[in-house]
Amino acid sequence: MTWQENLRTVTPYVAGEQPKMIDMIKLNTNENPYPPSPQVQQTIESFASERLRLYPDSDANELREALADYYQLKPEQVFLGNGSDEVLSLSFLTFFNSSKPLLLPDISYSFYPIYCDLYRIPYQEIPVDKNFKLNIQDYFQENGGVVIANPNAPTGLSLDLKTIETLLRNNTESIVLIDEAYIDFGGVSAIPLLEKYDNLIIVQTFSKSRSLAGIRLGIALGNALTISHLYDVKNSFNSYPLDRLAQAIGLASLNDELYFRQTVSKIIAERERFSDVLRQLGFSVTDSKTNFVFVKPPLGTAQALFEALYEAKIIIRYWNKPKISDWLRITIGTEKEMNEIIKFLKKYLQKLE
Ligand code: PMP
Repeated sequence: MTWQENLRTVTPYVAGEQPKMIDMIKLNTNENPYPPSPQVQQTIESFASERLRLYPDSDANELREALADYYQLKPEQVFLGNGSDEVLSLSFLTFFNSSKPLLLPDISYSFYPIYCDLYRIPYQEIPVDKNFKLNIQDYFQENGGVVIANPNAPTGLSLDLKTIETLLRNNTESIVLIDEAYIDFGGVSAIPLLEKYDNLIIVQTFSKSRSLAGIRLGIALGNALTISHLYDVKNSFNSYPLDRLAQAIGLASLNDELYFRQTVSKIIAERERFSDVLRQLGFSVTDSKTNFVFVKPPLGTAQALFEALYEAKIIIRYWNKPKISDWLRITIGTEKEMNEIIKFLKKYLQKLE
């Protein structure tokens, strides 16, 4: 066999576009429209570059302790990685090593099946219903693990704590990973369940609610022994996933609770206002508990609207995929940005009528 025949091939994840144009209204990859806490800026300004000469603390202990304190857990229950994408990737590698299929909803974050292909993990995608809701009983069958985003992406729909606990009660033999990337925008975190279930892993990120997508900071929370397995795998790859500056910035962000709460509240209020306007315009809008809305236009195709918005330098997300090709995902930006898109949509629909 040649190396070409032996090559490990995967269809890579297609991330949302990061356009070079700066005069675009960018509502396509669920970034936070506000800057990170002013304390982050101060930390960057006072950061002595001399410190970069030395390796960082490989386990980011100061940040880990601060996070443990924040979530009322023990530091050993906290794992940190380079964005939650890396945390997810290491979790798949660490925990999903079974010949039984990993259960995933179809629709969900499209990176999950890619990790499965990459690590040769068998998986089964379980369709959500026509309203994009998942039926938790579908996840009680024998499995090599369960991964659910709560709230889900791109639908924005959220599961309550009782449903997550039912899932855990019926899955004591395998790891249940709940991806809470968008939890701070109105979902209910499964953190209180960590006490009871040592097979629960919760993944969160600094990218969305803390405006730090550019620094790449993700978290896993779990039982101390479960989390220790993640450290074992991480240390076999790269012992220093978080650089010194990222650790300092994460700490500064975590310490500014007031700013965090204020910006998250503004985004939630804007999401509700924007959703109401879109419903009045005739759009179908799911009940999002995230920093984006998932919508179906009343007239014309989703693709045509996506293209018209792009032309007007407003970039949102469209997938040419069965099931969701009639739908669009729009990140919640500032009030001004959302007013711009509303203005555009009103004119666009008038022309179609
Ligand atoms: N999980 C979900 C459900 C997401 O939508 C995203 C963002 N694309 C991530 C994880 C990854 O976020 P990050 O790597 O920036 O932490």
